[in-house]
Amino acid sequence: MDFEAFSRLLDRARDHAGDYLRSVRDRRVYPDDAALAGLQAFDGPLPRQGLDPHAMLDMLQRYGAPAAVATGGGRYFGFVNGGLHPPALAARWLADAWDQNAAFHVMSPVAAKLEEVCERWLAELLDLPEGTAAGLVGGTSTSLVCGFAAARNALLQRQGWDVAAKGLFGAPEITVVLGAQAHGAVYRALALLGLGRERVVTVPCDDQGRMRVDKLPPLDDRTLLILAAGNVNSGAFDLFTPLCERAKAAGAWVHVDGAFGLWAAAAPSTRALCDGMALADSWSVDAHKTLNVPYDSGIVLCRDRRALVDALQTSGAYLEWSGQRESMLYTPDMSRRARGIDLWATLATLGRDGVADLIEQLCTGARQIADLLRAEGFHILNDVVFNQVLVACGSAEETEATLKVLQSSGEIWCGGSQWDGKPVIRISVCGVETTPEDLARAAAAFARARQSVAGVPA
Ligand SMILES: *Cc1c(COP(=O)(O)O)cnc(C)c1O
Repeated sequence: MDFEAFSRLLDRARDHAGDYLRSVRDRRVYPDDAALAGLQAFDGPLPRQGLDPHAMLDMLQRYGAPAAVATGGGRYFGFVNGGLHPPALAARWLADAWDQNAAFHVMSPVAAKLEEVCERWLAELLDLPEGTAAGLVGGTSTSLVCGFAAARNALLQRQGWDVAAKGLFGAPEITVVLGAQAHGAVYRALALLGLGRERVVTVPCDDQGRMRVDKLPPLDDRTLLILAAGNVNSGAFDLFTPLCERAKAAGAWVHVDGAFGLWAAAAPSTRALCDGMALADSWSVDAHKTLNVPYDSGIVLCRDRRALVDALQTSGAYLEWSGQRESMLYTPDMSRRARGIDLWATLATLGRDGVADLIEQLCTGARQIADLLRAEGFHILNDVVFNQVLVACGSAEETEATLKVLQSSGEIWCGGSQWDGKPVIRISVCGVETTPEDLARAAAAFARARQSVAGVPA
């Protein structure tokens, strides 16, 4: 393809993206049935002869865009998804055109440089020890695998066992201690690493979902203690200072799952939630949640650079080591996109103050919607300390029915969860686009939805 044709194709993609983005604040948050039915357009067989590229883009625009979930529009409160920081998307587009492979320094000096800068900036921003290593992975799920692998290997190394060489059969045992409300991704990572989903020691939580310090079992230097910066439902933070001090004194390894909450360390009004967090050994966080970087942007952070690199080591005669920081030593991937470019773009354009403002905006939004819903007579079940709000109606049935109406309304979208054994509606305020007007519209949608289900037996 000649450059002029290539360029026209990119223009068309940008035009379609522009049409989408122009309408994203006003469109339905979740596609309606007609838009979902339109996806059948993709059901045909693999064509023998390829589509014209412009026709392919038109097809995506015609059938794909209407079925997209408008997470970037300000009225999406599902999961903990985050929206889109425009400079991050722009930088990603530019870097996509460069088509860099971030595995090695020699493959892309620019990707390597920006990763190195992000590593340094992240430690500063999150108040972590100087020299903390960072690996840029797909998300917190992968980050947890990397952090736990570093922990497992380091703990066993101290017992004289080289797990990378010998495997786990016959190895000394490691104890894994975690809170009763640890995220499912934590269990999956433990299962993948041979640490067992079921052999963990579970510590009961308090009414906010925080690990109870008084219930912490004895720890030793064969223990991996997993803590949470941001309970997946309530947003609560474990009490790091007493927990980490106990762990440090015992020689245990502490990993913090802070997929969305680790960023609390970067804002004055939430920093205290992270007191003592820097005492841990490793941390997981997503840039694609609270920081609003496009997806596929997770980070593993590790105090002991050697431990992380050793756990993810690889070798091959053709590998080219430059003597500089090699990105692939910090992730399980080899070839991958240059994640550091859009992360750098986000940090560089927000700056320290902009990151703090973003976090404060989300937390303020969470408190606002909680207040609005309380005023409408809904029950707010958690202390709103970060960006998560748990909502219930008068009865479990009413809560479930209200959630169903909300999810099909197109006006807003929230997920559901269980809290204290009962169904709740879970609000996550995590999109940079969400305004006070969006929150008012959301509260009104809640009130209308509950109204429409009135008459459901209590
Ligand atoms: C989202 C989340 C995860 C999983 O992160 P992904 O980026 O989706 O892989 C793990 N832990 C917590 C607390 C989360 O919120």
